Amino acid sequence: MKTAILSVGTELLFGQITNTNTVYLSRQLNMLGFDVMYHYTVGDNPKRVAEMIELAFEDCDMVLTTGGLGPTQDDLTKEVACKVLDDELVMMDDVLQEIVGYFKKVRREMTENNKKQAIMPSRAKVFHNDAGTAPGFALEKKGKYIVCMPGPPREMKRMFEKSVLPFLKEMSGSAIYYRMIRTFGIGESKLETVLMELIDGQTDPTLATYAKEGESCLRIASKRESLEEAKDAVNEMLEKVKDIIGEYIYSCDDEELAQVVCRKLLENKITISSAESCTGGMFAAALTDFPGISGSFQRGLVTYSNEAKMDELGVKKETLEKHGAVSEETALEMVEGLKKVSESDICISVTGIAGPEGGTEEKPVGLAYIGFIFGEKKFCKKVLMRNVNRKWNRNYTLLSMLDIINKELG
Ligand code: ATP
Repeated sequence: MKTAILSVGTELLFGQITNTNTVYLSRQLNMLGFDVMYHYTVGDNPKRVAEMIELAFEDCDMVLTTGGLGPTQDDLTKEVACKVLDDELVMMDDVLQEIVGYFKKVRREMTENNKKQAIMPSRAKVFHNDAGTAPGFALEKKGKYIVCMPGPPREMKRMFEKSVLPFLKEMSGSAIYYRMIRTFGIGESKLETVLMELIDGQTDPTLATYAKEGESCLRIASKRESLEEAKDAVNEMLEKVKDIIGEYIYSCDDEELAQVVCRKLLENKITISSAESCTGGMFAAALTDFPGISGSFQRGLVTYSNEAKMDELGVKKETLEKHGAVSEETALEMVEGLKKVSESDICISVTGIAGPEGGTEEKPVGLAYIGFIFGEKKFCKKVLMRNVNRKWNRNYTLLSMLDIINKELG
């Protein structure tokens, strides 16, 4: 189905906010097999909003809008959508009750203009707003659909996932199933190259690659008559993909690498501690994002200066002088020192040059050493990144640490 996304909001035109809603919706629609033909952005002006919807309908069967559904004077999307699709606005009592309930729940006083939000197009299929007050809706006329959602990304996403997605799936008349495969250690272009044979000439399932902050993802999607058929097609393709890039895959269900690592640590009742230099606590932060990780994570030391490395981990002054803070020797002494103070099953250390300054020919920006101890196993891994920028380098170093643990835990 040919689709357009219309973002409503003058602040978008001023560049005051980034249009993340469109990015999110495009991806989602794409996965569902809807063809996104146009992205439109328009200010809070009813005439121009109407013109945009009419323009979109010249070529598309569906327009998804976000924004302009709120209770204030400049929120006009509903009125315009109603007019373009020839409907009339009516007060919906059940919607009003939901809004009253919402205000009770958040203990806020309901103002008179909030009531306006319960006035909906009479033929609308109303979508409840879990995270706010403005309901969304879908409206149809002669095979043309408008789906209107609120502007705040949190509200829009919740509504999309809970209500709009099932509505669209039902409307598309076929079953769609997809899996998001996440990999680390292989770039997006290489991923595409090695999978070219599978990607080329495939109409169903389809394979699409994405780059994501140092990682590469692969989406395998199928659209069939039944969900079972779609699932079988995707899983069969996944086996072929695994034969080619299995060593790089860390999740077939769109999990974060940190999530996978935390799950494995907890399942295997393995304790862990870290000593970080260039990542400055990012590893500890990534692990402690995971609820329940106190069952595994014991200590996260940030030993940024040479003094800290000597005082807290017992790194030798001579080692630092002879080999430097960013060296295999230092990383190993850091992890050995950590093992002594923590006694955790897994100890991991990291020291590197995040940049932009501080690199030399011998030790360029993007170089890091990761020390690792697990049982009898002790090693240091050298990581040489392509130095995109400080933020990227630090994130890639973190992912490299997690990747080591993930692989060692099997
Ligand atoms: P509300 O009930 O909050 O009034 P609304 O549907 O009227 O919701 P808007 O007033 O248009 O939404 O937008 C509210 C806020 O949502 C904006 O100030 C902005 O922060 C965010 N927002 C709106 N549209 C987008 C978008 N396309 N991408 C990202 N954020 C957006």
